Amino acid sequence: MPLYLWPFRQIRRNRILSRGLVPDRLWRRCLDDHPILAGLSTADEQLLRELTTVFLREKRFEPVQGLDLNELMKTSIAVQACLPILHLGIDSYNDWSTIIVYPAEFVRPRQEFDTAGVLHQWEEWLGGESWERGPVVLSWCDVEASGWGDGYNVVVHEMAHKLDMRNGDADGYPALHRGMRPSEWSQAFTSAYEDLARVAERGREPDIDDYATESPAEFFAVLSEYFFERPDLVAERYPQVFQQLRLYYRQDPETRLPMRPQRGR
Ligand SMILES: [Zn+2]
Repeated sequence: MPLYLWPFRQIRRNRILSRGLVPDRLWRRCLDDHPILAGLSTADEQLLRELTTVFLREKRFEPVQGLDLNELMKTSIAVQACLPILHLGIDSYNDWSTIIVYPAEFVRPRQEFDTAGVLHQWEEWLGGESWERGPVVLSWCDVEASGWGDGYNVVVHEMAHKLDMRNGDADGYPALHRGMRPSEWSQAFTSAYEDLARVAERGREPDIDDYATESPAEFFAVLSEYFFERPDLVAERYPQVFQQLRLYYRQDPETRLPMRPQRGR
């Protein structure tokens, strides 16, 4: 962002915040509905509420296929989107503005030529999708299934892709902060990726979703989901990845979620 734009953006955000934060009842309900938000310090909860307030004002929500997207639903998306950037700042999302929300999984046509030059066409059902510098697309059913502390979180997943894309293609290699070593990131993620692929190949059901082994980009997105949903599992299975994610997201969910949250519904 050019420096001269900063004050204007900041003034606008201060104005948004001065008009009031997410209302108390809505905020309480949001915290209660999402066990992954348990244990936040007072300062972090206040920061998350401010980020969520700004996010709700700055992003455009576009429900489709007749979905009735109310304030609680929007806030549920916003708060889960803001959790990963709690200590990165709202500017981490300043290169996109729209969230399209389907009622349930949505279909995308796919096609690919095989090595013999034969065109294969099929349909893929998705729970979420992120376009480079474009919208985020979410299935409301999948948003509802997120935040319970069981490892699945479509909002965190798509936000991880968005963060990853800030320095080019989604490749599992987001822009690291000063002081982080690229070699340590690569080493941690490569060895964990290979390990999970080996477990999946042996036909054993891994406790981390092996969709992660589709590509390094998916590995980063899926491990980000587990980092915020089941940090204990990431710390146990892949401690070096946990350490890198802790440095990258500048927070440690394991310290505030010592007990595995129970699924509430
Ligand atoms: Zn993905």
